[in-house]
Amino acid sequence: MTSRTAIVTGAARGIGAATARRLAADGHAVAVLDLAEDQAAGVADDINAKGGKAIAIGADVADEAAATAAVARAAAELGPPQILVNNAGILRDNLLFKMSAADWDAVLGVHLRGAFLMARAVQSSMVESGWGRIVNLSSTSALGNRGQANYAAAKAGMQGLTKTLAIELGKFGITANAVAPGFIETEMTKATAERVGVPFADFLAHAAKEVPVGRVGRPEDIAAAVAFFCSEEAGYVSGQVLYVAGGPKA
Ligand code: NAP
Repeated sequence: MTSRTAIVTGAARGIGAATARRLAADGHAVAVLDLAEDQAAGVADDINAKGGKAIAIGADVADEAAATAAVARAAAELGPPQILVNNAGILRDNLLFKMSAADWDAVLGVHLRGAFLMARAVQSSMVESGWGRIVNLSSTSALGNRGQANYAAAKAGMQGLTKTLAIELGKFGITANAVAPGFIETEMTKATAERVGVPFADFLAHAAKEVPVGRVGRPEDIAAAVAFFCSEEAGYVSGQVLYVAGGPKA
């Protein structure tokens, strides 16, 4: 397979780290981007130690200058980016009447503004090379979820962004797709368990009962779906949302 330069945001841990490792194993050079470069370095070092190629980049994807600089650094050190996975994310859950405007802005800022800024920053190198893959992380919460007005709006927004990128960029050999995970065992879901005061093991067991395949998801389950959208043979698949949730619905 052709080796490309990939940027994975929020890749210091969880789904992003699994995706960075998977894309590296598939032969791509990976920019492991997260808020703190030293956190991302652990994943990049691991990839390099296994014979892959990776660098760590510290950047806040919601910051226009930082997002632009991160893409420029990835291009300078690894070559022009042709794969972008917009995975960085945060939660600020609360019921509507208790949700602050700051928590609304923070969630929309990281997920949606971050994905927009990163996509806009990488598109020129993708257009120039006539090949690109953009994968955005949505969620089953895009269908609506109690206590997540901000997150659900952001994740539904990711789907609209994805479809529009697919329409605008298709003629340049660029596809854009979204992966919408169900319940995945990561620090994000662990933090939710802590917030609602349920031991994580009980939280996982309860969640697994709701999933037709009888288990919660692993970061590698999502990385596999992302890797498909990034592959050469997925070039005729664009503007799609793939729910990866162990069953047909959230
Ligand atoms: P996670 O473990 O919390 O990891 C998210 C990563 O994103 C963290 O390393 C975090 O860094 C980083 N990040 C946060 N804000 C950032 C910013 N402004 N710029 C750059 N990086 C930033 O989350 P996860 O569970 O792996 O989720 C990954 C993605 O999948 C998210 O978009 C999430 O919404 C989505 N998703 C997850 C689930 C699930 O069940 N876990 C389900 C559906 C969708 P810090 O640690 O420094 O904050």
